[in-house]
Amino acid sequence: MTKRVLVTGGAGFIGSHYVRTLLGPQGPGDVSVTVLDKLTYAGNPANLDVVRSHPGFTFVQGDICDDGVVTPLMAEHDQVVHFAAESHVDRSIDGGAEFVRTNVLGTHTLVNAAHRAGIGTFVHISTDEVYGSIDEGSWPETDPLRPNSPYASAKASSDLIALSYHRTHGLDVRVTRCSNNYGPHHFPEKAIPLFVTQLLDGRTVPLYGDGSNVRDWLHVDDHVQGIELVRTRGRAGEIYNIGGGTELSNKELVGMLLDACGADWDSSVVHVEDRKGHDRRYSVNCAKIGEELGYAPRVDFHQGLLRTVQWYRDNRAWWEPLKERAAL
Ligand code: NAD
Repeated sequence: MTKRVLVTGGAGFIGSHYVRTLLGPQGPGDVSVTVLDKLTYAGNPANLDVVRSHPGFTFVQGDICDDGVVTPLMAEHDQVVHFAAESHVDRSIDGGAEFVRTNVLGTHTLVNAAHRAGIGTFVHISTDEVYGSIDEGSWPETDPLRPNSPYASAKASSDLIALSYHRTHGLDVRVTRCSNNYGPHHFPEKAIPLFVTQLLDGRTVPLYGDGSNVRDWLHVDDHVQGIELVRTRGRAGEIYNIGGGTELSNKELVGMLLDACGADWDSSVVHVEDRKGHDRRYSVNCAKIGEELGYAPRVDFHQGLLRTVQWYRDNRAWWEPLKERAAL
């Protein structure tokens, strides 16, 4: 039977990739999708152009904090995949109020309405940043939450709110915590698309501190694969880490991007003051989703990065206006 899936934040980077995959030729074939998106600066209707005429696609512009929008939508859906969030750490350092509003209040509005409507499954998309920073080893899902930035703290709060609706009301909530995503349609304020678009224009790229902060990189195709496993086969009340298996220091990443864009270090890299409270290293242990649901990242990082750079080369019309509007 066709499942009616409500996707919040589906006009953003990862949400739109998820919707394009779900309704594309590799999709499950038994779903219809409604995107609920406020279209903030990060939401882009063009990300959904390829699915706009799909018979199973509907778009609703609205705010996840608005119960008057959310409640009637819940009544028409079987499942929710919740991506909508304020997602940029640097913006949360400049001001966290919108992060608390959208990520915490918005998530509460959704789970509360989902519970009242009897939604079958609610997948809450979270981040490895809720665990804090780790010098060695990797976090299993059972590790305590020690978020550092206002962004990560608001996401951690939203995880707890969502999970509380499972424990208190029995709502089938499943939480995913992924590492840093990369791929096409990524808003050009984030590290990889910012660096690539700067280098393609012969401009400089900023490197925080000494460049030794370490991140795990996850291709957005692999993230979507993990989310689908959790949506279709995960267990209620459980948390699943999703990683890409490629840990790099920012310095190593910049070196690879310089090679891919044909630029050199001395004329392209500008060292800037470190981000306040900059987490040293993130590393998720993905054994649970691997053993329980058969998840393994499939995209080779080098190939995925080259494809991503090529996408930005080929799609200037997508990112140039965004950079201009955001004064990047
Ligand atoms: P994004 O910023 O590209 O997109 C967010 C989307 O949410 C936008 O379309 C925006 O318009 C929408 N939105 C924001 N506030 C809204 C509101 N109040 N009501 C309705 N819609 C609203 O984000 P992304 O990178 O695609 O991230 C998606 C999710 O994945 C987020 O929850 C984020 O925390 C999580 N995540 C992202 C990464 C990453 O590397 N990008 C890593 C870990 C976790």
